[in-house]
Order: sequence, then structure tokens, then C-alpha cells
Amino acid sequence: MTAALLAFCLAAAADAGAQADAGSADAGDSVVVMRGAVRVRVQPGAPKPGDPVLITVYGAKEVPVGELGSWHLNFLPFRGGHQALIGLPTDLKLVPLKLEVQLKTDAKEEDYALTLDIVDPQFRKDELRVAGKYTSPSRAQKKWMAEDQREFNAAFGQPLEARLFEKAFEWPKLGRTAAPYGDRRMFNGKLQSQHYGVDIDGQIGDPAFAANDGTVVMVRECFGSGNTVLIHHGAGLYTAYFHLSRFDVKVGDKVKQGQRVGLVGKTGRVTGPHLHWGVKIDGRWVDGTTLLKLDFE
Ligand SMILES: [Zn+2]
Repeated sequence: MTAALLAFCLAAAADAGAQADAGSADAGDSVVVMRGAVRVRVQPGAPKPGDPVLITVYGAKEVPVGELGSWHLNFLPFRGGHQALIGLPTDLKLVPLKLEVQLKTDAKEEDYALTLDIVDPQFRKDELRVAGKYTSPSRAQKKWMAEDQREFNAAFGQPLEARLFEKAFEWPKLGRTAAPYGDRRMFNGKLQSQHYGVDIDGQIGDPAFAANDGTVVMVRECFGSGNTVLIHHGAGLYTAYFHLSRFDVKVGDKVKQGQRVGLVGKTGRVTGPHLHWGVKIDGRWVDGTTLLKLDFE
């Protein structure tokens, strides 16, 4: 069997005119490479640190293999193609990242390579005042936090399986975004963490909805995140709903997009009522506003 090597290198420039003949950038902020029956699409075409990146491949006879930078891609079948989803770390350097995908078609093996520009996320600095117990927890509170961590780790330990959803993700609640993903946060004057979710304004009792179909893997009263619901969506992807005042689901429930998971509240480490919406992929919290723009096809 003859193995032909086809490599397409192109930069994910914002300017679609700069693309090589084998590829193009479409209006949905993605990069597409096409050759015969094969189509490789990367979203977003120019990601930020902390973004989810979705690679969709059509036309491969077997499961493709690939890497983004030094990270291995786990392709999973969906309908007629394969998809891999990966979360970029928030401290990713602003230098182009190489994507390589190897796949088999009926005729041959093919290699695809392209380079993604990494955009400056311009994370903000934010100062918050919270109750003293959240910056200097007692021994009992530290124990509570350690138990929370164990429960989170167990919930995030679901086996990698095909995605449990069909459509794109939707906001879990409509409202003003009170704090975006990535804020570097000072609590009571001390730099403590980065904000690994999106805060959506709300009142106690407003409904919070599942952002997509999935299975509930955690329902727990946590110290920092307050009343917390975690949903597993398959494909290594989870969404989290923090600070709820009431739970409307239990562990093991299969939920549908738009189903109420609970009510907005102000439980845990908060300055007021809101919904903290978190998205975790491959062990990393990523920017949910980017997830909402991904076309899962
Ligand atoms: Zn938050």
C-alpha cells in the first residue's frame, strides 16, 4: 500500500484571503482544510488561552490521531465523522500552536498540519470582598474543602465516551455577564485565584438550566462553590452550576438541554446572588462563552 503524505500548512489568520488553496476560514471563526472527501475543521480558528478547541474530521476511515502543541487529541466518533475537544490552559504562551492530524482514507494515509495563532485573552484584574472565613478557613472548613475536592475529582473521573448531546450549547441562564472567565482575583486584598467560570447576574430563585443534554454526576453543598451541580456531557466535557439556592436534579439523572437543574442563589463564597457557570474539558476549566460559539455539527 502506498502511503501518500499530504501536508497543508496555513495560518489561522483573521483574514480569510490569506489562506492557502486547500483551506479557508469561514464566518464562524474557524479554519477548514478540505482535500477530496476529507474535511478538517478547527474552532475557534484563532483561540485564546483558556478556550475550548474543537477539531472535527470528516472522511476518515478509522479514528484519526493527532496532536495540538504537545497535547494528544482524543478523537471520538459522532454521526458521520470524528471530533476531538481540548481545553487550552490559561497560562498558554501567545505563540502559534501547531495542529497535526493523521488519518486514513480508502486510498491512503494523509497528514494534515496547520498553525493556530493564539490571541491575547486580556484577562482582567478583579478585587472582591468576601467573609473572612473564605480567605482564612478554620480547620473544620479546610476539611470540608478537602472533601469537596475529593467529590469533584470522583465526579470528573467519568470514562471518556462519545458525546451525549447533539446540538450546540446554550446559556444556562439569560442575564448580564457579571464577571467573565479568566479574571485574576484578589479576595480581601490577597491575590488568590483566577476566575474559572462565567458569572451571570441573577436573583435568588431564578431558574438555572442545563446547557446541554447529559448526566448529573454531582449534587453537593460545597464550601466555596456552595450548592453545586455537575453535568457530564460525554466527550470529556462537563458543565458546573455553582451557588444554587435549590437543587432540582439528583445524581444519575439524565437531563435535557434547557431542563431546570436548580435555582440561583448565593451559597458559598459569593458577594451576592448569581449563577457561576463553569465548563471543564480534559481536566481544565475553560471559557464557556467560547463553548457556546462552537458548532458541533
Ligand atoms: Zn464565578
